[in-house]
Amino acid sequence: MSNITFTMIKPDAVANGHSGKIIDQILEAGFSIQAMKYLHLTPENAGKFYAVHSERPFFNDLVSFMTSGPIFAAVLVKENAVADFRTLIGATDPKKADEGTIRQRFADSIEANAVHGSDSDENAAIEASFFFNSFERF
Ligand code: UDP
Ligand code: MG
Repeated sequence: MSNITFTMIKPDAVANGHSGKIIDQILEAGFSIQAMKYLHLTPENAGKFYAVHSERPFFNDLVSFMTSGPIFAAVLVKENAVADFRTLIGATDPKKADEGTIRQRFADSIEANAVHGSDSDENAAIEASFFFNSFERF
């Protein structure tokens, strides 16, 4: 069990002004932020990030959505980070997400669902290194 997970605050939540409340809920839940950046994904990078879904019918729409505006990408630290963060964000479809979860509170639809959360320790490491070369200090 590793202690990091990777998240994105997706374009819908950034555009709707929910970033601050989402970061607050993440910190309140006991996560700390190891690295964070604000960026606008290119179609190439969004396609690479979601390559595992490239055969799914929603793939092209997902790439369009994820490139529709800026996002926050972040590496989060907590004991049992991957599983605890999936619990905090709730189900992929916000209509099915538990009361009080980030997606239940802030998501619009199964596609525009406010946040990403890694689904395994292995993918957390892959996804974190996709966006961050190292945890730089300046
Ligand atoms: N997605 C979608 N339609 C679907 C399922 C997923 O647009 O029917 C999008 C949604 O933004 C989701 C992402 O694709 O967060 C990745 O899907 P996954 O099944 O990995 O869900 P997650 O792990 O994000 O809950
Ligand atoms: Mg997933």
